[in-house]
Amino acid sequence: MLWKCLLCGYRYDPDQGDPDGDVRPGTPFEYLPLDWACPECGAGKDMFRAVDEDLEELEEAAEEDGER
Ligand SMILES: [Zn+2]
Repeated sequence: MLWKCLLCGYRYDPDQGDPDGDVRPGTPFEYLPLDWACPECGAGKDMFRAVDEDLEELEEAAEEDGER
């Protein structure tokens, strides 16, 4: 399960954590500190939405993200 920032499209991968944010690999999104914010745009955790890796392309298409 990945978590995606609704503002900039950054994806939090629990397997990788957030090295820049001092989050160790293997940290579930739920375990992030409440003041953790998107490393790309600074959005709070409430701006993140869980995405299924298999469904992600569908979601991106629906949002007209255009990155892929
Ligand atoms: Zn962001």
